Amino acid sequence: MTATAPREEQLWSRCTGCASLLYRKRLRRNLDVCPECGAHARLGAPERLRQLVDPGSLRLLPDRLPEADPIDFVDVLPYPHRLTAARASTGLAEAVVCATATIGGHPAVLAVMDFRFLGGSLGCAVGELITRAAERALDDRSPLILVTASGGARMQEGALSLMQMATVSQAIAALREAGLLTVSVLTDPTYGGVAASFATNTDLVLAESGARMGFAGPRVIRQVTGRALPEGFQTADFLLRHGQIDMVVQRRSLRGRLTALLAATRTGRPARPPVPRQEPAPGHERLADDGSTVAPATIPPVGEGRGASAGTPTASADPAPAARDPWDTVRVARNPGRPTTLDYLDSVFDGFVELHGDRLGGDCPAVVGGVARLDGRHVMVIGHQKGHTTAELVARNFGMSSPAGHRKALRLMRLAARLGLPVVTLVDTPGADPGVGAEEQGQAAAIAENILTLTVLPTPVLAVITGEGGSGGALALAVADRVLMLQHAVYSVISPEGCAAILWPDRSAAPQAARALRLTAPDLHRLGVVDEIVPEPAAAAHDDPTETARRLRAALLANLLPLLDVPPAMLVRLRRQRFRRFGAPRTGARAGAR
Ligand SMILES: [Zn+2]
Repeated sequence: MTATAPREEQLWSRCTGCASLLYRKRLRRNLDVCPECGAHARLGAPERLRQLVDPGSLRLLPDRLPEADPIDFVDVLPYPHRLTAARASTGLAEAVVCATATIGGHPAVLAVMDFRFLGGSLGCAVGELITRAAERALDDRSPLILVTASGGARMQEGALSLMQMATVSQAIAALREAGLLTVSVLTDPTYGGVAASFATNTDLVLAESGARMGFAGPRVIRQVTGRALPEGFQTADFLLRHGQIDMVVQRRSLRGRLTALLAATRTGRPARPPVPRQEPAPGHERLADDGSTVAPATIPPVGEGRGASAGTPTASADPAPAARDPWDTVRVARNPGRPTTLDYLDSVFDGFVELHGDRLGGDCPAVVGGVARLDGRHVMVIGHQKGHTTAELVARNFGMSSPAGHRKALRLMRLAARLGLPVVTLVDTPGADPGVGAEEQGQAAAIAENILTLTVLPTPVLAVITGEGGSGGALALAVADRVLMLQHAVYSVISPEGCAAILWPDRSAAPQAARALRLTAPDLHRLGVVDEIVPEPAAAAHDDPTETARRLRAALLANLLPLLDVPPAMLVRLRRQRFRRFGAPRTGARAGAR
């Protein structure tokens, strides 16, 4: 559009804040901040970098990765077409630009997202590039600065895009361990999976004036609550008032503020030996060769290993589901008759003692947790709780955790680590609570901290997707050494209805979206997101809860016992390798043939 627009139009631009017609050169001189009303226009990554770093100091990091379309996603357009169009219109390879530079003379590594590129969405390549930038910061012993602008995870890459939240978070965790500063600069807009991971689990969170940040978008919240949103909801000033960010910064002051913060961290800190960084995931190459299998982390094998049926006590039934339409599986996964976490605590575990509260003012009923025994061994169990009746579902907020629920889970995870107890999580949630209160209390940061903490937890973590694994709310309990999934459960970056509403003309395309998202257990097992499928009795778990419990118990034991002998440091290293491998784009035969 711009390229063919008449020259006259290129000279002028209209402010989105006050609608003033502004001379473009004057606007650019003013850093794209409207001189009339102060509205901060969105910046592309190259212009942002130009404004932030010292002249002549910028060194771009490589941004070329193999082409990837890991789940062959097609909505009304094939995903590769959307990628090609985004590249053509932005001139960028992906939705992030990474570089080393100095700011006020202080060296730093920067990763700057660009909203123009598919809404700044977090896909495998973006996750990989930011992770590499973080690893570069670790190697250089430099601070890492992330400038975020994103609508969330990239739906077209399914659950693999969800995994990027863990991949980048563990890279941030490594910088924390090395005593290196991480700073995020929220720019407009920052939402979803980016908000609920590296935008908020950094040491410092700055928000540019006018930026909005949240876990759930305003449209979704209005839809769910049916109410108008409070004035200024999710704006930088709102975030500051609710204790979620360190400061709101005008664009013209951003460079100065970063300079001051970088200067403060460069003094007085004793030099520490570099922490050995994570080894590149051994799975990368095998992923690239094969496109259908993923190398397992080298955790001692369970029987024959990680196949859905091989050698485990769950092998008695055929785990290969009949070719059920994914939309039917979604409906089975949501069946209110399915066993809930409390049902499993009764049938799979013994001696459950529930522990309550986040110690910060709340006890979320959508998350239950406490100590229990599994075949005589003490474990910490944490899970989402739904219910069987409407009254139960309402009382448990449909299994949608508030920030208090995530903070309760966090407290119990840390307690488990201190006590040397393995953690077993049972995941069954449509997603994290998308309410006004949840946003006020920092839903994004609460999820982000859980994800990061799970990447460093020095005790075995075993996650089971028992029903619905909905997006970031599910991942907040599912960064684990082994991820199991009941045969008719689903696990997805977004609900099929939500995906349909965004990528198709309307929500009635949910069944098509369910097929495109690759959210079933066999799909996710093939992609390596899930290590083992726990077969359900015919026709599904709710038809025979006793048999389901017996199979789940056997699968838990078979997967947990080998983890108990792994030294904590190795456990954490292997867990990080497990999630690091999702960072590499898959170059299957299809992509390789291009
Ligand atoms: Zn204006």
